[in-house]
Amino acid sequence: MPLVAGAFGALVWLERRRPLRRSVESKWTRDARNLAVAGVAAVALQLAERPVTRRLTALVERRKLGLLQQLRLPRPLEIALAVVLLDYTLYVWHVLTHRVPWLWRFHLVHHADLDLDASTALRFHFGELICSVAWRGAQVSVIGVSPQSLAAWQSLLFVSILFHHSNVRLPVAAERRLNLFIVTPRMHGIHHSLVREERDANWSSGLTLWDRLHGTLKLNVPQDEITIGVPGYREAEELGLVELLKLPFAAAERSAWLLPKGARPSVRAAHLMPVDYLIA
Ligand SMILES: [Zn+2]
Repeated sequence: MPLVAGAFGALVWLERRRPLRRSVESKWTRDARNLAVAGVAAVALQLAERPVTRRLTALVERRKLGLLQQLRLPRPLEIALAVVLLDYTLYVWHVLTHRVPWLWRFHLVHHADLDLDASTALRFHFGELICSVAWRGAQVSVIGVSPQSLAAWQSLLFVSILFHHSNVRLPVAAERRLNLFIVTPRMHGIHHSLVREERDANWSSGLTLWDRLHGTLKLNVPQDEITIGVPGYREAEELGLVELLKLPFAAAERSAWLLPKGARPSVRAAHLMPVDYLIA
């Protein structure tokens, strides 16, 4: 917890000093709203996920269940492999939250933010987190995740998610180097773009390896051409706290890809740009 609070505080400070993208909404209104959504989500996690993962990881370790427990590896190696495999299976889960319509209804709440910063990293609808408990249970039992491995992965993931959602302008050269291994703010900014082809890329949450292996890595989009958000949900007054919590349960889902009347889809000859242009 001190690690998370420290990382969040440091990123918020850096976001003020060196912002990467220009903001649309007032920072304080957004932070308050996103932290409120996050508060509800945190309660849901404590009630729905914690009891399941606590018991399941203990059982996995005691009975030597799952892949890594069967291999009986030295502890540090087991933890490292568990972190990598959890990271990969989270990539798969992330794709599912976009591809499965009823899961997208929940994940949409995260994507409908009109700006992207460290507070967006915490803005997940409680329903998405409750749905993910079944996936987490499968991850733990198939991979064979011990309590220690799960704790290690959760800490790393939290810091990674805060970092790559943040609106911090890093030196381009540094970001390029980091991006060889881990997800960076410019890379994840592309995943939060209004343009569908850009949204359907960069699903990784930790290592960029998974996007590289699946051919879903997209780096050739300059940040100042990106509009953050989802086309069907662009009005700030429709995206208040209560509206966000109710959004997944709306009777009819609006086409998230429909552009508002009069708006032109951004036309960009991305394929003409060299692959590492993005990072500019
Ligand atoms: Zn997403």
